Amino acid sequence: MQVSSIELDSVSKRFGSVEVISELSLTIHSGEFIAFLGPSGCGKSTLLRMIAGLESVDGGEIRIGGERVDRLPPGARGVAMVFQHYALYPHMTVFDNLAFGLRNIGTAEDEIARRIEEAARILEISHLLKRKPGQLSGGQRQRVAIGRALVKDPKAYLFDEPLSNLDAALRVRTRVELARLHQQTRATTIFVTHDQVEAMTLASRIVVMNARKVEQVGTPMEIYGRPATEFVARFVGSPA
Ligand code: ADP
Ligand code: MG
Repeated sequence: MQVSSIELDSVSKRFGSVEVISELSLTIHSGEFIAFLGPSGCGKSTLLRMIAGLESVDGGEIRIGGERVDRLPPGARGVAMVFQHYALYPHMTVFDNLAFGLRNIGTAEDEIARRIEEAARILEISHLLKRKPGQLSGGQRQRVAIGRALVKDPKAYLFDEPLSNLDAALRVRTRVELARLHQQTRATTIFVTHDQVEAMTLASRIVVMNARKVEQVGTPMEIYGRPATEFVARFVGSPA
């Protein structure tokens, strides 16, 4: 298992003439579970997609494990992203969905089988490997989507609102599973959400974002107990 820090150094992003991330600097420690929390449209997904390599960077640097990656293609960065819309291939079995990314990079079949067995055990989906996505519940599909990240043995996991498509009960259960997953893997994890309860219960540190920039970085206790700005105070719903 390889675990890495992620450094954002004065990162900026524009879409046309609109700046959506403005000279943002942040260090994510190796092995920590950190949440990016903020209202819809503040730039959370854009920031995550720049780390994953799905969006280009207009200014600044991104380093993963000390290595500059912001010019590298997504596949060369060693991070795995889990999306809100977990788009599995409907015509493929769960096993083949999990194998797909590894086959693409030429991983040997016996190694693929070994990694899938391990990931399926951790996520408790071993009994589902022969099914197609259409035969799974929403929660099971989301676990398969997480499994696709897990089999890559990434240096970091990037979750973009992975629970927002689930109903309330399932959201709580999956939250517990994500916490357990982090306890087992101890992998660097960035969890993007607009839900403060998710951020507070899962993350050891929270990055509160507001339009283009970071408002505050701190433990849930610090964010909740000592909001640094009026925006943070309002957003977490505690008196300033
Ligand atoms: P969040 O994930 O916090 O809801 P996003 O990162 O998705 O926010 O979006 C930040 C801002 O950038 C929003 O104003 C959004 O409309 C804009 N945006 C996101 N992606 C694009 C794109 N591909 N082209 C133009 N504007 C975009
Ligand atoms: Mg988003």
